[in-house]
Amino acid sequence: MSSIIQLLPDHVANQIAAGEVVQRPASVVKELLENAVDAKATDIKLIVKDAGKALVQVIDNGLGMSVTDARLCFERHATSKIRQAEDLFSLHTKGFRGEALASIAAIAHVEMKTKQDQEELGNHIIIEGSKFVSQEPAVLPKGTSFSVKNLFYNIPARRNFLKSETVELRHVIDEFQRVALAHPNISFTMYHNGSEMFNLPNSNFRQRIVNVFSGKTNEKLVPVQEETDILSIQGFVGKPEFAKKNRGEQFFFVNDRYIKSGYLHHAVMNAYDGLLPNGAQPSYFIYLQVPPNTIDINIHPTKTEIKFDDENALYAILRSSIKHSLGQFNVVPALDFDRDPNLDTPYEYQNKTADYPTVQVDRSYNPFAEEKQDKSFSGSSSTYKKAESTQSWESLYVGLKQDTSEVETFSFENEEITASLFDEKEEEQTKNRTYQIHKKYIISPIKSGMVIMDQSRAHQRVLYEQFLTNMTVHQASSQQLLFSLQLFFSNNEMKLIAELQQSLENTGFVFETFYSDSVLISGIPINTTESEVSMVLEQLISDLEDGIPDSSFSQNDTIAKSMAKSLAVKTGIYLTEKEQENLVNNLFACKEPNVSPFQKPTFITMRVEDIDKKFAL
Ligand code: ADP
Ligand code: MG
Repeated sequence: MSSIIQLLPDHVANQIAAGEVVQRPASVVKELLENAVDAKATDIKLIVKDAGKALVQVIDNGLGMSVTDARLCFERHATSKIRQAEDLFSLHTKGFRGEALASIAAIAHVEMKTKQDQEELGNHIIIEGSKFVSQEPAVLPKGTSFSVKNLFYNIPARRNFLKSETVELRHVIDEFQRVALAHPNISFTMYHNGSEMFNLPNSNFRQRIVNVFSGKTNEKLVPVQEETDILSIQGFVGKPEFAKKNRGEQFFFVNDRYIKSGYLHHAVMNAYDGLLPNGAQPSYFIYLQVPPNTIDINIHPTKTEIKFDDENALYAILRSSIKHSLGQFNVVPALDFDRDPNLDTPYEYQNKTADYPTVQVDRSYNPFAEEKQDKSFSGSSSTYKKAESTQSWESLYVGLKQDTSEVETFSFENEEITASLFDEKEEEQTKNRTYQIHKKYIISPIKSGMVIMDQSRAHQRVLYEQFLTNMTVHQASSQQLLFSLQLFFSNNEMKLIAELQQSLENTGFVFETFYSDSVLISGIPINTTESEVSMVLEQLISDLEDGIPDSSFSQNDTIAKSMAKSLAVKTGIYLTEKEQENLVNNLFACKEPNVSPFQKPTFITMRVEDIDKKFAL
């Protein structure tokens, strides 16, 4: 029988390898930026068109390449960064595989211009689908410019697989930010479709973080520092009161390389134990330096996961140094009238008494110890919050009874509400009674037996239909804010909000001004409180992680779902009888009362026969 095995031609092998290295435009961005950093550039420009699908260009002022190297760099396993296997254990560069350029050149139109400082002339190379089209000497500035056009032009399946522009751009920005945050001493700029998205002068870690994530970031950060024999830690963590709904501002860097580590994340979260409500995500920017021989970078092909020799020690040191910082810098929210206090109260906690100061971390670092003694201070702060939080029910449950164990000092409306309640009380007793159990279910007798309703899902359904109706008829009522609310967002988040502006305005939002890093809001939907606005928008942004739906119908649907999820009463919240009753009535006035917007059952019924059966056993 004849033999059938053949060596694959290089361009085919490269195309296959490209599958691993290049998943999307953002992968190209990462490889090119890292090459520029490895080439010791001090200034790096990233130019992107159509979220990188049409063009990714990186221009650096680094070392450049010789004529021979300029050609060789496109070969597979061609690298200047390691020479022997041992070098893998003392890596000081980002790259070392020598695969990236060969892979990229196999699946795109590539143009490279490069010149070394000491040379008169540089080199201009064009290569398409692994084939050299031309190589010519050229007059060039020092450094390298690398353009990658029409990514995946020869692999239509991969091209079709790419997500919407918004999603791809977000990935590109993520990669850009990771490299930029790791190297504050290099200046970076980024342009997308001709407009400047980032302009980051060389600076220090703190300033770089602030430049990447808007001016407001500075006051949110607490420094973390630790030196031990096995590692050094530098960086910043966010004060708990600025915690977010999503994990967009969580970064680990090990030896200047962005990494992901569930284990280290856990160590950080552990340090915040008791300081954050469920689901809240603190910001952190942690820079670790460890001896290169104590980590194994090789564990993951795209190198965002690494393995440490002594993970346990790392965990413990990281956790305790963050705890220490949070304690030392007294993270208790101060009464600061310039700051938006609404950002502080996690919504799950709004209808509860402000009991969080009793939460204890390590005694010696307890940031609350002092405040607890100073009753007047913490007292006024919690009363203030409480007064605000009570508004959250007003819209849906006008005329409801507030939990009278709470002191209401600030809100005049509440007094009126309490007054009107007394008249209704008698009437209430004659009605169908409802009961709340476990602060989770509402039970109500009906003719055939009883209904057991999940309070959170039921409220989601009610809000969802309300939002959807308002959005489709374009006549949501809006409540005018006394003072416009300025909310800060990242570039990409701002873009999303701008894109959704119309739909959001249909829910009742009024956007007064769009700035580059923030938005001024002068009106909010009727069933929202000021304190919930930032949470609602953040949740929405994180719900749109996979892109904005194309049709306006499904856009509205997504927004309505997200807002319903954010604003619905949660499990664990006490509801007064009136609130319970309103919820029951509102749910059964819905078009589709049986399921939540997420298709989960909102209630079940138990017929008397069912109950009888239980007793018959
Ligand atoms: P790796 O980075 O893993 O070595 P690459 O395929 O990314 O592999 O790059 C191959 C080689 O090309 C690098 O080792 C480096 O010598 C050279 N090179 C790539 N980009 C640049 C650049 N921007 N400036 C100077 N040299 C570069
Ligand atoms: Mg490289």
